[in-house]
Amino acid sequence: MKVRIDPPDECMGDGICADECPQVFEMDDEGLAVVVNGEPDESLREAVESAAEECPAEIIIVED
Ligand code: SF4
Repeated sequence: MKVRIDPPDECMGDGICADECPQVFEMDDEGLAVVVNGEPDESLREAVESAAEECPAEIIIVED
């Protein structure tokens, strides 16, 4: 599984993804989400997909 935020400048800064899966998403100093683990373990799939579904900007891309 590969995860990215694209395009990153469309992040709304609400922090939903970092709440859902802090092992993969963190908020940076400017309040925008960044991916800190772009190839997470399968055990995190549910949390990552949940973050992607809940992202209001629809910019969390999950690929196999
Ligand atoms: S859920 Fe989407 S809009 Fe919200 S912080 Fe994460 S990437 Fe940004």
